[in-house]
Amino acid sequence: MDDRLFRTAMGKFATGVTVITTKVGENVHGMTANAFMSVSLNPKLVLISIGEKANMNQLIKESGKFAVSVLNEGQQDLSAYFAGQIKEERDVGFDTFNEMPVIKDALVNLTCNVHESVIAGDHTLYIGEVTDLRVTDGEALGFFEGKYRKVV
Ligand code: FAD
Ligand code: NAD
Repeated sequence: MDDRLFRTAMGKFATGVTVITTKVGENVHGMTANAFMSVSLNPKLVLISIGEKANMNQLIKESGKFAVSVLNEGQQDLSAYFAGQIKEERDVGFDTFNEMPVIKDALVNLTCNVHESVIAGDHTLYIGEVTDLRVTDGEALGFFEGKYRKVV
């Protein structure tokens, strides 16, 4: 099966956009991801899927922790930046929540300990047990057919 056809098909599933963050010592790292889902209510589990070549993969393995920030409609630029699509290095002013770096003003910040990880093809699925979260009102940044969208 053709890769482009697969991506076109998967792109028909509309999602929000998150930035995953982690910290190893003083090294803070962020990465854009739309492969995020809620898994379980009791215990509270979520799932992210990280490409094997992403720098984030090794860092989560080392830290055993990650945070998820659900982006608001005004944070498209941050999504492009943490996807490596804006080349200049920026000094991102992360917020700290439950001792983890998170994106300021996001709709949701949640922190997790890795509960389980599963290698699945060229990605690793990280199931995280949610240790804390906070929610802010606002509109979501949407992603559909490979483009950012307003959620209406
Ligand atoms: P890098 O390329 O190393 O970092 C990304 C960018 O963030 C770089 O510019 C880096 O300089 C900057 N950066 C990171 N940390 C900091 C910091 N502390 N201070 C300042 N700058 C910093 N890939 C997946 O594996 N899973 C997904 O679910 C997924 N979803 C995506 C959804 C969308 C909408 C998009 C656009 C991309 C998605 N990607 C996904 C692709 C992924 O975001 C990129 O491939 C990413 O560049 C790979 O991550 P990395 O850890 O190697 O990041
Ligand atoms: P696109 O058309 O490449 O993506 C559409 C959909 O295809 C995505 O929402 C995702 O569900 C799926 N997809 C894309 N690349 C994938 C991959 N390597 N592994 C598994 N699923 C994948 O959209 P785009 O705007 O061209 O994406 C920008 C960049 O971000 C591309 O390099 C893309 O590969 C990457 N991306 C990766 C993932 C992922 O790894 N899960 C998800 C989204 C985007």
